[in-house]
Amino acid sequence: MISELEPRFKEILLKAEDMSPLTGNEALTLMRVGLHTKACYALMEAANRMSRSQFGGKGENHFHIGLNVEPCPMDCLFCSLTRKADIFREKIEFSMEQVIAWAKQAETHGADALNLMTTGAYPFERLLEVGRMLRKITAVPLVANTRDISHREGEALLDAGFVGAYHAVRLGEGKDTPLKREKRIHTIQVLNDVGLLWMNCVEPAGPEHSAEEIVDLMFLARDNGAVYSGIMRRINFPGSPMERFGMITELEMARLVAISRLVMGDVPKAHCTHEPHSASLIAGANLFFPEVGASPRDGEADTEKGRGTGIEICQKMQREMEWDPRSRSNCFEMAPSAAVL
Ligand code: SF4
Repeated sequence: MISELEPRFKEILLKAEDMSPLTGNEALTLMRVGLHTKACYALMEAANRMSRSQFGGKGENHFHIGLNVEPCPMDCLFCSLTRKADIFREKIEFSMEQVIAWAKQAETHGADALNLMTTGAYPFERLLEVGRMLRKITAVPLVANTRDISHREGEALLDAGFVGAYHAVRLGEGKDTPLKREKRIHTIQVLNDVGLLWMNCVEPAGPEHSAEEIVDLMFLARDNGAVYSGIMRRINFPGSPMERFGMITELEMARLVAISRLVMGDVPKAHCTHEPHSASLIAGANLFFPEVGASPRDGEADTEKGRGTGIEICQKMQREMEWDPRSRSNCFEMAPSAAVL
């Protein structure tokens, strides 16, 4: 365990606050900082200061709409929307009227983005249709969260009105999922090539993940210019095959959020955590995902009726921790179609 008294620790904090890129070894040193130590609070304090000054006190809310529920054939072990989980046996697609109502709710409350999530086998053309429809009725920037895509599909997302895409190489990719890390990275390259803003999070973090695995994904985000990254923990849905590992606490998430913030340096426009909680808001996070519709963490088809946190609660948490959710987003400054109806 590393202590705040070690000169090496102080050097790393100063280097990070100076916005000098950390090395992998320096990040691994920070991963040795234990919870409930002075060093941990010094780490969080540094991350907090970096974010507040770099993001101008802005609290971001990117409103997640899960468009469909189905027993997804990809069977990622941490996801409740799988065949194997056997929670959802039928396909449910939320109606366009419902999706429009959610989008308007998000806009009314000043959401900074709409993140449209689909399961792995959802028809891509349908996602484009939803994007085109929402583009007509709201100016809130659209972000896609879908399967791996080609350059042609990336351009189709742009044409449909999306300005960005959330995409992650998940912790345990290729072991807990059937997907290949190289293919996930290729999609990140596609997003950067076609001009879609790339949004990321290191997820779904659990106690079983090694410091090396976690740090590797923090650097993937920094080195490929993610608009934001951060930390999301794995939530064990009832009957999850990952239950035997337990879950990390919100405080542990805050520790990881802080390390990830120091690694990101001057690259990001925001720093995220999920699910929404206060501790990370003083450890470098300023971005929440209020949730409605399908969620891979929930046993309810509509997470608004389950564990999803609404936008008003997210914004209240941010105000209580002195982030301003109603000021202008920093994430979409460069997005040409974000302001165009
Ligand atoms: S994480 Fe996505 S691809 Fe994997 S099982 Fe869940 S919905 Fe399917």
